[in-house]
Amino acid sequence: MLHWTRFAGGYHRTMSLMNNANEADYPGKLKAVADALTAWEGPIVLAAHVDPDGDALGSTLALKRALEDLGKTALLPLEPPPFLAFLCEPGELSDPLEALPEHCMLAVLDVSDISRIDGAPTEGAAFVLNIDHHGTNDRFGDLALVQPGAAATAQIIKDLIDVLPVAWTEKLATPCLTGIMTDTGTFRYTNTNADVLNAAGDLMAAGAAYTEISDRVQRRPASYFQMLGRVMETLEMHEDGKISMAHVTQALREAYGEDDDSDDYVGAIRYIEGVELALLLKEKDDAVKVSVRARPPYSAQNVAVALGGGGHVAAAGAKLDGLGLTEAKERVLTAAQAEIRRHEGH
Ligand code: 5GP
Ligand code: MN
Repeated sequence: MLHWTRFAGGYHRTMSLMNNANEADYPGKLKAVADALTAWEGPIVLAAHVDPDGDALGSTLALKRALEDLGKTALLPLEPPPFLAFLCEPGELSDPLEALPEHCMLAVLDVSDISRIDGAPTEGAAFVLNIDHHGTNDRFGDLALVQPGAAATAQIIKDLIDVLPVAWTEKLATPCLTGIMTDTGTFRYTNTNADVLNAAGDLMAAGAAYTEISDRVQRRPASYFQMLGRVMETLEMHEDGKISMAHVTQALREAYGEDDDSDDYVGAIRYIEGVELALLLKEKDDAVKVSVRARPPYSAQNVAVALGGGGHVAAAGAKLDGLGLTEAKERVLTAAQAEIRRHEGH
């Protein structure tokens, strides 16, 4: 499906989908997914998106453990960022797979399009399952459960585990609650609703230690805060203070260590008084990655889709290939200004 996106000075055509509608029969779809998983006799390979976040790891890890409780063979080839490594037990995650095992199901979680998966090839699966909450999900796979109204993929996994014939344990509840917490900014973002808080309560009752998870997911090495100081020096304000924009250069990333956890710097500049759209650009090899955050009624998704990326209304991102930082900043700012002006009748 093609979309026309209003851009400053004209219209740009993008190939991204934006279907923010929930499943017509969510309980029925959950049951279909639960049945497909319980009936599956071969191995199940779980995969999430590149640069896994708390929801990518939390949702896949919770489902992997639930499948193992059901007696299934489940593989999770994923490398977590350092601040999430506390969730995993030694040996629980696999190295990237060169090829999929015979007769395997590939269960893809928190991935809007299959080209964004990491750690496993997409070819050779006997069955592809797609569980996600991105409105830009293109509904790939043999069975797709896409619920854009869900705050996190881990929220869908909570509902799925509720209908699977397994008992909730702390081992399932902890990664599940972590995914919900990280995708809602620990219950502060606009995707936080009564379902989220009810699920969190259930998961705490099942043994997940909320305050400990909250503490763990916010801890960072000293270099993160030192680099944050340097990144804040790049802050620019645009559109009468409605847009905040900062960037991380490749040189800075290298100076403070490649393993930076700078993805959530955008969270800091979205709290500047008056800001409606926050933009963080990160120079990475031959590309610039942009993270976009928005307050209603503005849409981060519109900005990201105009740049060839995707995500949610409140949080989205894109990767600009083959552009230098200066060009990328101009391109991103133009898209963000178009979103601000769209609401002002320009
Ligand atoms: P972040 O800015 O934290 O990397 O991503 C915010 C949201 O946008 C996440 O849900 C993420 O999956 C999505 N997202 C980030 N970058 C891209 C991208 O390049 N393409 C697509 N389709 N989605 C992205
Ligand atoms: Mn997610």
